[in-house]
Amino acid sequence: MSNGCVYLVGAGPGDPGLMTVRGRDLLRRADAVVYDNLAARRLLDEAPPQAEMIYVGKQASAHTLRQEEINELLVRLGREGRQVVRLKGGDPFVFGRGGEEALALVEAGVRFEIVPGITAGVAAPAYAGIPVTHRGVTSSIALITGHETPDKDESDLDYAALANWPGTLVFYMGVKNLPKIAASLMEHGMDPATPAALVRWGTTARQETVTGTLSDITEVAARAGIKPPSLIVVGHVVALRQSISWFEGRPLFGKRIVVTRARLQASRVARQLEDLGAEVIELPAIRIEPPADTAPLDAAAADVSSCDWVIFTSANGVDAFFDALQRAGLDSRALGGVRICVIGPGTAERLGRFGLKPDAQPQSYKSADISRTLAGIEDLGGKKILCPRADIAPKDLIVDLQSLGADVTDLAAYRTVGETPEPELLDELFAGGGPDWITFTSSSTVTNFVNAVGLDRLRGSDASLASIGPTTSATMRGLGLEVDVEAAAHTIPGLVDAILEAQPPREQ
Ligand code: SAH
Repeated sequence: MSNGCVYLVGAGPGDPGLMTVRGRDLLRRADAVVYDNLAARRLLDEAPPQAEMIYVGKQASAHTLRQEEINELLVRLGREGRQVVRLKGGDPFVFGRGGEEALALVEAGVRFEIVPGITAGVAAPAYAGIPVTHRGVTSSIALITGHETPDKDESDLDYAALANWPGTLVFYMGVKNLPKIAASLMEHGMDPATPAALVRWGTTARQETVTGTLSDITEVAARAGIKPPSLIVVGHVVALRQSISWFEGRPLFGKRIVVTRARLQASRVARQLEDLGAEVIELPAIRIEPPADTAPLDAAAADVSSCDWVIFTSANGVDAFFDALQRAGLDSRALGGVRICVIGPGTAERLGRFGLKPDAQPQSYKSADISRTLAGIEDLGGKKILCPRADIAPKDLIVDLQSLGADVTDLAAYRTVGETPEPELLDELFAGGGPDWITFTSSSTVTNFVNAVGLDRLRGSDASLASIGPTTSATMRGLGLEVDVEAAAHTIPGLVDAILEAQPPREQ
């Protein structure tokens, strides 16, 4: 037997945080990943970049595989000695055909392991505030497939037994059959007043829940336009949602928010917004690249100890400068006798990663305040000042410092390059009214996003626009865009606060 192993791993119901630690560990060292349509697509980023990613999802249109072909694929990859993660939504053995795949591996003599996942039938109700069992209400739960072989008069399900089931009924894949399910349960004697719910896209920012009774749930779901993937929950526990509902009440729940920052920096703002319940769409308008020629930056870094001041106006500038310092064979001690100014707390925090604290930080985050702050500390006449910045940074800071007599070196430490999002992604995003919010964290995100999306489409959408500060807002207005909110503190938390404050109060 080769060293290959196929891990049948449950990816959980949708929230990427609901995968097991073991599953994630295996994913991080997989060399092949075989996956379906996953609600938690972001989990795929956990796989190493060199891993082979094989999509076998069941979608009518795409070139996807039949179950036998998937089984053969898993056997082949295992025989090749690969570490294969077969990633499935929810739990692999709950309506996931994991059993069939395991049997195929047994038969072929390929080593395998099972990593259970949180099944949607328990997790989606939980996120809707419905405990699937509750002391004194119900002590059992049935997981049922609501998908039945079409064109068959006889039902695959024993509705007489289900109607008398002493507990909660959870139907997977049942939306299409909802009228039949509800009617059959009542026909077999279940009380029409029994509470029932549908939960769509449970545990994700798109979660939608409707409730009713067995007698009206079909109509309620149809009116709300509930489609798959949804679960149907029938039982008295549904009534507990009234008190326990929590997920859908978070302040930004249901809001679709676009983050336009460079991908590497987007995660912080994205996580903060997601923690408040928003669905975040990362559409980086820019990416950060090294300058075309790094020689001037390298030379300046090697000679930094001869400077009086270094001014950092962004976290990217800090990173680029310390990369250059390292290339020069130096470390933070080269800055021992040099004073450091940063533009704001984000930049200060990045500097802290290199063990350094700033000597100066202006009151506001505007570059005009930097020269004023430094001049307040000492006479800048003849002082040698290094400014490692973006290639496109405005010149006013340099001019201000020079007018105070300083000897300034303005260095392009990094380049801001426009990103082109995929046209299909944009079409999808702006279909209907578009997203609820678009966030801009610098002038370059504004100009590049407008370039990519088009001014007309942006103006024509219902999206509200959020700006991190006056410079970014000025760029927006210059392009004819309206600034709906501007952060009071020109930081990421400030931007998130501004969006939060703009939310209308929720009905209780
Ligand atoms: N193995 C999976 C189930 C696969 S069957 C698990 O254990 O969860 C697919 C069905 O699961 C869908 O038709 C839907 O009924 C249900 N489902 C999966 N994810 C869901 C989600 N996030 N919200 C609601 N239902 C979901």
